[in-house]
Amino acid sequence: MLGLCRSANHPSMPYAEERRIAIEAVEKASFLCRAVQTDLVAAASMDKQDKSPVTVADFGAQAVVTHLLRGAFPDLPLVGEEDAAALREPSNRALADQVVAHVEAHVEAHAVGETVPGLGFAEVLDLIDYGTYGGGASGRHWTLDPIDGTKGFLRMDQYAVALALIEDGEVVLGVLGCPNMPVGAASEGERGCLFVAVKGEGAFQRALSGGPEQPVRVTDVSQTEKANFCESVEAAHSSQSDSAQVAGLLGITADPFRIDSQCKYGAVSRGEASIYLRLPTRKDYEEKIWDHAAGAIVVREAGGKVTDVMGRELDFSLGRTLRNNSGVIVTNGVLHEPVIAAVRKVLAV
Ligand code: AMP
Ligand code: MG
Repeated sequence: MLGLCRSANHPSMPYAEERRIAIEAVEKASFLCRAVQTDLVAAASMDKQDKSPVTVADFGAQAVVTHLLRGAFPDLPLVGEEDAAALREPSNRALADQVVAHVEAHVEAHAVGETVPGLGFAEVLDLIDYGTYGGGASGRHWTLDPIDGTKGFLRMDQYAVALALIEDGEVVLGVLGCPNMPVGAASEGERGCLFVAVKGEGAFQRALSGGPEQPVRVTDVSQTEKANFCESVEAAHSSQSDSAQVAGLLGITADPFRIDSQCKYGAVSRGEASIYLRLPTRKDYEEKIWDHAAGAIVVREAGGKVTDVMGRELDFSLGRTLRNNSGVIVTNGVLHEPVIAAVRKVLAV
């Protein structure tokens, strides 16, 4: 009987332990990213072209998340965006040392009194390399984007730590840490929020700093002309000219809400936008599972719908990419059909 319970601690709530650990991992990684970003502000003289802060935070966040996940679920593999090959280059030793220092500080800083035996250079690089799993249709695995929206991170804007659990090709748990996203819909006030969703249990948001989780829900806007949409800040990641045409066909007059990373899924889940358009900029681009898994379940559990531009479900069972899908369309559900029709018309697909 015990073997049937996914969570020995809360047998009535499937994935309870996975949810708890995933939240803790995303929190710690988010705090590491924040610390590196704070240094970025402090180093006012820093060359704006210097990408090393995002590199340190990216690798560091992956190591921190992996450390926690492997401690709790040693047999679960991880599809992570990063691997440590570049950090193993002797010429990058100084960068690697910074990663190790941040990881050690954050793994220890948030587990009071606990020491982390053996965590050092080799171990941190091995943790990062744990993310090289190929994914696929059977069994359970995690997928992680340690910093989604690196461009946003460098602009001191929005980014996300995105972690999801995939079971037999289906996303069953997702956690999004959004360290710069306002907790409420208003742009003033506390920043830093966390979204979490488990299949069948709804979607929730809370402040990254803690406090109670609040359920989130997509908008109930049913007329396309009253809708607003969000999209990438980066025109290279989603065609902004095509989205403007789609908006025109739908009678949308509100300006696009441009925001980096899977914060877009968070925005739709809590009703800040009714639509998220991610329209291909080139035919051969394959979306990565870590760029969508956590966000997709958050929106679905908040009542929304997530497909590709053809209206097909995203297929997370094919390995590290969504190779059978093209682009991503997210709506509050009610608007899905008209939005897909407009997208297909503009793209002629
Ligand atoms: P966003 O912040 O929504 O613009 O998305 C950031 C993500 O876009 C990154 O994590 C990349 O994996 C992904 N990306 C990179 N190139 C492309 C592309 N040509 N089309 C779509 N997504 C891309
Ligand atoms: Mg990403």
